[in-house]
Amino acid sequence: MEKSAYQPYFVIIGLLILTSLALATTVDVNVSDTAGIELRLPDRIGDWRGDEIRYCQNRACQRMWYASELTNRDVCPVCGGRLGGMSYAERQMLPPDTVILKKRYTDPLGNALIVSIVLSGKERASIHRPQVCLVGQGREIVRSRVIEVPFDNRPPLKVMLLDLLIHPRRLGGPKAVRGEYYAYWFVGKGRETPYHLERMFWMAWDRIFHNVAHRWAYIAVAGPRDLSSDRHVEQVREFIQQMYPYLTKT
Ligand SMILES: [Zn+2]
Repeated sequence: MEKSAYQPYFVIIGLLILTSLALATTVDVNVSDTAGIELRLPDRIGDWRGDEIRYCQNRACQRMWYASELTNRDVCPVCGGRLGGMSYAERQMLPPDTVILKKRYTDPLGNALIVSIVLSGKERASIHRPQVCLVGQGREIVRSRVIEVPFDNRPPLKVMLLDLLIHPRRLGGPKAVRGEYYAYWFVGKGRETPYHLERMFWMAWDRIFHNVAHRWAYIAVAGPRDLSSDRHVEQVREFIQQMYPYLTKT
């Protein structure tokens, strides 16, 4: 795991070289509609049951709904506004052809987590380093590490796992500090990586050597964690192990 710590630096050097090459040789790049994953999340993953999250796109309303509360998944029951997969704030920030799918999963033991898939649009600016969006809003990243999710039929999937502390008081809420985790990885056509920089590298590589820009996706699993234990690591690993086959392109 330690050698992974140096990986970003090699990637930076590679990126610098590729960027220079890109500037020198820029030609028309084929923007491909090919994504590396299926944009779908099943209603059941093992013992977990999924409920899609929908947001009202009306600025004056902006309510969040679970699909199970709705009779029409496209219309807000309160204001009649259009519902979509991304929140009003996300829509303001992201290019219009970005697609977001979010589901909350709960298990019989009362555990809950949220899965998001963000599929970049043609502008490729849809996907940022998640750390940028997570910090602020009373959140603090206290630990980040790459965990491996093992599979029978392929090498382990590397996933970035962030341990967060939530400080509600900074937002004028109660004093108690809570723990959350945020796990994510990036998927492009034929590529997977937990590192933002490695994704940038592959995007540059494909542009220069294959003259193509694929749509990248970013998959995140988030939920509460115990402040005094590492139990969430195993939960995340097991969940992703069960979810992964549903995302794989057939
Ligand atoms: Zn509404």
